[in-house]
Amino acid sequence: MAEGVRRPRGDDHGRAIFAQEYARAGGPTRPSFFSEGLLGPTLMAMGSQAQQARFLPKILNGEEFWCQGFSEPDAGSDLASLKTKAVLDGDQWRIDGQKIWTSQAHLSDWIFMLVRTDPDAPKHKGISMLLVDLDQPGIERRVIKEMTGGTHFCEVFFDGAVTPADLIVGGPGDGWKASMATLSFERGTAFLAQQARFANDFTSLVEAARANGAIDDPLIRQQLAASFIGLELMRFSGYRTITGILKNGQPGPEASVGKLQWTTWHQEFGELYTSVYGAKSTLLAETEPARHLEHGFLLSRAETIYAGATEIQKNIVSERVLGLPKEPG
Ligand SMILES: Cc1cc2nc3c(=O)[nH]c(=O)nc-3n(C[C@H](O)[C@H](O)[C@H](O)COP(=O)(O)OP(=O)(O)OC[C@H]3O[C@@H](n4cnc5c(N)ncnc54)[C@H](O)[C@@H]3O)c2cc1C
Repeated sequence: MAEGVRRPRGDDHGRAIFAQEYARAGGPTRPSFFSEGLLGPTLMAMGSQAQQARFLPKILNGEEFWCQGFSEPDAGSDLASLKTKAVLDGDQWRIDGQKIWTSQAHLSDWIFMLVRTDPDAPKHKGISMLLVDLDQPGIERRVIKEMTGGTHFCEVFFDGAVTPADLIVGGPGDGWKASMATLSFERGTAFLAQQARFANDFTSLVEAARANGAIDDPLIRQQLAASFIGLELMRFSGYRTITGILKNGQPGPEASVGKLQWTTWHQEFGELYTSVYGAKSTLLAETEPARHLEHGFLLSRAETIYAGATEIQKNIVSERVLGLPKEPG
């Protein structure tokens, strides 16, 4: 094993198996996605022992909820352009700036966030990841209302917010490396449970098609068959990701293949849902399973954007998996 590569740990694939069985049993989406799925594995890979001892138990028992403060108004796909800054002031970091699209910030206790700690360093090198308590006077959270009617995310404003000097993941300037670890978990392992959840949705759509006669439409039958094949491909691709983790300790750039696969599949499945349900699908259905499928259809528009937009995943696959020339700057 290469030096510096984290040793494979039984709990990585144990977590993946739990997530799949949980989804198969029909459990609801877990509110601890950002804590359990993203920060926990990042701290296991790069956090200090003190950080692991302080935060992991409360992530596991669900006592503390986290959100992810990466994106800013002018730093989404080009994340390294972020401007929120943190300055070491005695024994604490003082933070000023703004985050946006911060999922569940209004429901969270803590935020793991990227900040610029060295404005003079090249842009990827001057970034650090800080762990910050959200419940303090220097932080304001404003909820954003979205088209599903839900309130999933916030803008978060920092005006002299503080966090202790040792709540930095890795050291100053390690933020880009830490964020790449987080994003590989987000694209790779955190969504392994999706396939099992989608399989449940697929079964309910076939049942609905049988019940309303849509199953007799030859085009819909073809689309259902194609959708099933996509689901199976996603399952085997998920197994390949788990095998990769056993070998390398964390998902590599090929995690982007899985992200492209499930997000595209889910959008096509949403279109198929509207074909099976017909005109009724344009109204928010009031009964299950249509309500759940409708919500999935609306949400699927966002899936090719968050955790890195589709075009960015394609750039990663072309440059870092296939070794093709870099896109022109
Ligand atoms: C539902 C949802 C939840 C989210 N939750 C969080 C969260 O919890 N925390 C957080 O930090 N962020 C979150 N985000 C933000 C998300 O990470 C960003 O929206 C995403 O990275 C895209 O950034 P942007 O919106 O600024 O779009 P832009 O970066 O402005 O991109 C606009 C378009 O241009 C394309 N594009 C940009 N650069 C290139 C390029 N080099 N080559 C080709 N095409 C390009 C993009 O693919 C996209 O289609 C969330 C977003 C959504 C939709």
